[in-house]
Amino acid sequence: MLIGINCLLDAIKYADHSYNIDLITRAFEFAKDCHSCQKRLSGEPYIIHPINVALILINLGMDTNSVVAGLLHDVIEDTKVSKDDISEKFGADIALLVDGVTKLSNVPLYTKEEQHVENIRKMLLAMSKDIRVIVIKLADRLHNMRTALAWSEQKRRDKSLETMEIYAPLAQRLGMRTIKEELEDIALKYLDPVAYEEITQMLQKQELNNSIYLNNETYIEYIEQKVFNKIKNIASNAKINGRLKSHYGIYRKIYINGKDWEEVFDIYAIRVIVNTVSECYNVLGAMHEIFTPIPNRFKDYISTPKPNMYQSLHTTVIGTGGIPFEIQIRTFDMHYIAEYGIAAHWKYKQGVQSDGLEKRLSWIRRIIELQQESDTAEDFMQSIKTDIGSEEVFVFTPNGEVKTLPVGSTIIDFAYSIHSEVGNKMIGGKINGRIAPIETKIKTNQVIEIITTKSANHGPSRNWLKIVKTSEAKHKIKSWFKKEKRAENIQEGMTEIKREFARNNINLTENELQVFLDSIAHRNKFNSIDDFYAAIGYGGIVVSKIMPPIKDAYSKYKNVPTAPRQNQSARSFSNSSGVTVEGIEHCLVNLAKCCNPIPGNSIIGFITRGNGVTVHKTICPNILNTQKDITQLDKFIPVHWTNSPNNKYISSLKILAQNQDNIVAKVTSELANLNITINELNAKFLKNNNVSIVFSIWISHISQLKSITQKLKKITGIISIDS
Ligand code: MN
Repeated sequence: MLIGINCLLDAIKYADHSYNIDLITRAFEFAKDCHSCQKRLSGEPYIIHPINVALILINLGMDTNSVVAGLLHDVIEDTKVSKDDISEKFGADIALLVDGVTKLSNVPLYTKEEQHVENIRKMLLAMSKDIRVIVIKLADRLHNMRTALAWSEQKRRDKSLETMEIYAPLAQRLGMRTIKEELEDIALKYLDPVAYEEITQMLQKQELNNSIYLNNETYIEYIEQKVFNKIKNIASNAKINGRLKSHYGIYRKIYINGKDWEEVFDIYAIRVIVNTVSECYNVLGAMHEIFTPIPNRFKDYISTPKPNMYQSLHTTVIGTGGIPFEIQIRTFDMHYIAEYGIAAHWKYKQGVQSDGLEKRLSWIRRIIELQQESDTAEDFMQSIKTDIGSEEVFVFTPNGEVKTLPVGSTIIDFAYSIHSEVGNKMIGGKINGRIAPIETKIKTNQVIEIITTKSANHGPSRNWLKIVKTSEAKHKIKSWFKKEKRAENIQEGMTEIKREFARNNINLTENELQVFLDSIAHRNKFNSIDDFYAAIGYGGIVVSKIMPPIKDAYSKYKNVPTAPRQNQSARSFSNSSGVTVEGIEHCLVNLAKCCNPIPGNSIIGFITRGNGVTVHKTICPNILNTQKDITQLDKFIPVHWTNSPNNKYISSLKILAQNQDNIVAKVTSELANLNITINELNAKFLKNNNVSIVFSIWISHISQLKSITQKLKKITGIISIDS
C-alpha cells in the first residue's frame, strides 16, 4: 500500500497541537477493514480516500474527533456499519459527525434533484448543530476533486458545478480560503477547460514579460526582496510571500465581469505578515512610500472585518516596470484565520464553542429555517445558491445596528431583514435621510430607514417578489399572501390552471378534472386541490414549471386503455387519507412516499414540522433508522386505518417478465379486468431479453395486492412479481 497510517502519524508529528494517536490508529484499522474489498474508481484501495481526508483535516488543525470522523466518513454510506456501531466503538460525538456527512439513503422522493436537495438540507442541518460536519465534508469534496480524473466526464462536470455553486461558497462563508481557492480552480479546470488553459498561458506570458525588467529573478521574488529591504527595521520577524492570484479569481474578472486582461490589475499578491496591528499600519505607510498606490483600492478589513472573520489591510500599488500588484498586510493570527477560517477555531480553542462562533453561524440557521418553507426543490437550491454564494453589503439601521445583505438587495430586502412586520407595513424608505424608491439597491455604509404605516389593512405587493433579492424577503412576502389572502389565492390559482390547461389542450369533464387535479395536488404534496390552487395563487408554485409533468400525467390518464373511470367517482381519490391520528382530530395527514402504506399494513405516524403527520409502514427503513435517534422519539404517534373502502392508495408492482407476445399489453389489460387504475407505468427492456415493468397503481387494501399478484402470475412469461 502506497499510503498508510504512517502518513497520518507523520502529519501529526508536525501538527502544533496534540492528537489521540490510539484513537486515530484504531479508527484507521477499523476503516481499513470496512473498506477492505472496495476499490476507488482509479483502482487504488479505497482506504486511500479516507486517509487523505484525515490528512487534510490534520493540516487544517482540526481536533482528534474530526480526524477520526474523516477516517470513518464513508463507512455508514458504503459498508454495513451503522451509526450505532460507530457510537459504540468511537463514542456519540464521532458517530454524530460521521452521520452528518452520510448521504440519506432511501429518500422517498420522485426525482434525483429532490434527493440531492434533501441531502444538502440534511448536511446543512447537521452543520448547524456542529460546524465540524461541513469542514469534514469540504475535506471529503476536496480530495474527491483532486482525484476527479477517475470519474466519467459527465460526473466530473456535475460534481464541479456543485462544487462551484455550493461547496466553494460554503468554504468562502467559513473563511477557508485555501480550500475555497483549490476547489474553485479544480472545478474551473473541468467546467471551462479552454478558459483555464488560456489563463495559464496568459499568466506564463505575463511572467515572462515582467521578468524582462529583472535579472535572473521572477517578478515576485524581486518585489519580495524590495519589500523586505524596506520593512526589515520597522517589523522584525515579518514574513513576506508573494503569489499569483488563483485562476478562478482571474477568470471571474475576465470572463464573468468582462474586463480586459490589462484591466486585471493584481495578478500578483504580496503578503506581509507581522506581529502586531500597529506594525500592520506602519508597513502600509512604508509600502505607500516605495510604491505608488492606485486610488480607491485601499481597504481596511482590520477595523471592519468581513463577516467570515477575515482581517487584513489591502492596497493595490504600481511596482517596478508599471506593473500593478496587491499588498495584503496582517498579523500572524489574522493570517491563520484568513487561510483556515472556521478551522482556526479548533486550533486555538480546541473545540470549545464560543459566542462569536455562534453568531457567525447564525446565517446557516436562518437559511435552514427559511428552507423548511420552500415549496419546491428548485426553489430551495436557488435560495441556497443566493444566500451562500453572494457577495455582501453592510448597511446600518438608524440606531447604528449593522445589517449584512447580499449585493443587489433592495430597501424592501432590508425591511424584511429587520422583521416581517416591518416589511409588510412598509410604505417607503430613506437612504441617508433622503426618501428613495423602495426598489433602490442598497450600498455599503448607507443608513437605511423604513417608513411604515399603522394601517391594519396594509400589506406587501405581489410585484415585490420580482424585485427582492434575498430568499428571506421572498419567503416572508409569500407567506403573507399565503396567510392573508387564501380565498383570493385559490381564485387566482384556479384561473391560472384553467388558462394553462386550455393553452395546453387539456380537456376534461368537471368530474374528471377534479380527479385529475386531486392526483396532481397529491403528487405535489398538497392535501387538497384548494391548497394546490392557493400555492399557485401566492406564487409558491409556478404553473409553467409544473406543466410538463402535468402534460405527461394527462396523456397517461387519457391513454390508459383500462380503468372504468366512469364508475370511479371523485371519492375514490378522496384527499382524506383514511388514517386517524390518535388523540388529534382534523390533523393534516400524508402517506409517506418512501413506503406507500396501504390499509392492512401496520403503520406509525411521524410528526413533521409544518406538514402534519406522515404515515409510514412500521417496517419502513426510514422509520427504523429514525427510531434509533432518541431525540426523535417524541415525534412518533400512533395512527390507525379507518375503514374507508372507497379510498385509493398508490402502490407499486415490480414485474420481471420475458419480453414476448406483447407482455406489457397483457399485464395492463389484466389490470383493467381487475378494475385497477394505473397511475404510472415504466417498462425497461433488459439485455437478456427480459423486460422489467414497474407499475404504480391505485388500490384500496393490501389484500387486493395479493389477489392481483395471483392473477398476474398466471400470465405466461411472467418471471416474478414484487410489491
Ligand atoms: Mn468520501
